[in-house]
Amino acid sequence: MVAYFTGMSQDARVTFLNRSAVPRRNGVVYWMQASARTRYNHALEYAVHVANHRSDPLEVVFVLTPGYPGANLRHYWFLVQGLRDVADGLRDRGIPFRLILGAPPVVVSHIAATVGTIVTDGGYTRVQRQWRDRVAADADCPVVEVESNVVVPVRTVSDKDEWSAATLRRKLHRHLDDFLVPVTTVGYRGPSAPSVLGSLPTDCREIDPADLTRPEDLTSLFALETSVAPVSAFRGGEAAAAERLADFLEHRLRHFDERRNVPDLDWTSHLSPYLHFGHVSPVELVLAAQERVKGPLGDDARGDLDTFVEELVVRRELAMNFVTYNPEYDTFRGLPDWARATLEEHSGDDRPVVYDLDTLEAAATDDPYWNACQREMVQRGVMHGYMRMYWGKKILEWTQNPEEALERAVILNDRYELDGRDPNGYAGVAWCFGKHDRPWVERPVFGKVRYMNANGLKRKFKGIDRYLERWNS
Ligand SMILES: Cc1cc2nc3c(=O)[nH]c(=O)nc-3n(C[C@H](O)[C@H](O)[C@H](O)COP(=O)(O)OP(=O)(O)OC[C@H]3O[C@@H](n4cnc5c(N)ncnc54)[C@H](O)[C@@H]3O)c2cc1C
Repeated sequence: MVAYFTGMSQDARVTFLNRSAVPRRNGVVYWMQASARTRYNHALEYAVHVANHRSDPLEVVFVLTPGYPGANLRHYWFLVQGLRDVADGLRDRGIPFRLILGAPPVVVSHIAATVGTIVTDGGYTRVQRQWRDRVAADADCPVVEVESNVVVPVRTVSDKDEWSAATLRRKLHRHLDDFLVPVTTVGYRGPSAPSVLGSLPTDCREIDPADLTRPEDLTSLFALETSVAPVSAFRGGEAAAAERLADFLEHRLRHFDERRNVPDLDWTSHLSPYLHFGHVSPVELVLAAQERVKGPLGDDARGDLDTFVEELVVRRELAMNFVTYNPEYDTFRGLPDWARATLEEHSGDDRPVVYDLDTLEAAATDDPYWNACQREMVQRGVMHGYMRMYWGKKILEWTQNPEEALERAVILNDRYELDGRDPNGYAGVAWCFGKHDRPWVERPVFGKVRYMNANGLKRKFKGIDRYLERWNS
């Protein structure tokens, strides 16, 4: 196989997933799953390079699966908006793209039996890994994974479930210069008409992304959960991600450090849905922010840049580390021993109030702050980052059993957040229950897990009532 990336560091993005090292047939397929973009996509550029080098035709394939765990119309619609951008971007580069409706491992294993090489990108959650493993086990051609949704490949940084951001930060920073490198677009020299794929399995079919212009076009294709509607505040795709980035760099990178946590200012980037669906690359985001600080913002914004890198790279890649090395990342069993022990010890404590899942979901608690953040998530599709911490802590306080509390937080987060079903979501919820944190002074219900309350919000944020007005009206 061709080593496309020059230098050891970028080669670390590439993993051969099976024993087949030499293509025995013609044709390269890039099975796009986690990096649904045409810019700053290491897997795409790798696939183009392999195809050019072997004088092979290339096709990009995305398999849209009905019934993706936890996905509803809100998520599917955002994903499909992004796939329309992918189709346009690839057409501009003369690379054929096929959108196929079916079961990804079945479709891709079928394809693997007729092509020379499968290139794919790297997602970290259980389902994504199971799909890749199945394809790699079935295929008799090389299956190559290229990690493009992180700055530093997860296994390059660490080989274990890290204790906290403090233990990961140093290991990660050591590699940043090697991996914060612009991704060069490789011109594709093969045919622009589809020529790689033969027949598809009988129980799948091809869809033209241009036909999917309204959510109804999607619901008429296959049965899916429609009770959670698409949101008007966010449009999916790399074009919308680029607009969000430009807006953030222009208006909110400056003062990000001091204002990002203030709920009523809403000073963050709002890029997490795009990162979740792979519509934008974290490498591109960091490089763009660095440019902005080198240029118009100047040294005054250096602290803002450092904080942005801390959130986007250290905290986000800590979450990737967590789901990679901790198989119980979305359950109570994934918490550190001290947190499980202290929460179990206090599971018999009287709660100030106990709510059931329906009351939480309906934002019908007696806490206006909590109701506001739940409504923000339901209506807008994202919740302010600081309020997510308060939201998760309260679910712990208001549920008798901490194991069930964690389960509820995951259910609600995954159902309503556009960026849900993501390593960041599992790490964020687990943080509320002690993961990546340290023991604090012991108190009822929380034990030694860090506590948060409404008085803290009022003390910290003078304008918190504006946040309440916005979401409780
Ligand atoms: C209970 C709880 C649930 C969460 N659920 C999710 C989720 O489902 N999906 C999700 O992407 N994030 C989740 N987070 C992490 C964080 O709150 C969001 O990433 C952030 O609010 C997204 O907004 P933004 O894009 O405007 O972030 P910005 O502040 O602009 O930060 C830029 C990027 O850095 C990353 N980032 C920022 N804060 C964190 C953090 N604390 N941990 C990890 N990465 C971070 C995100 O990728 C974000 O897009 C959760 C946090 C908690 C406490």
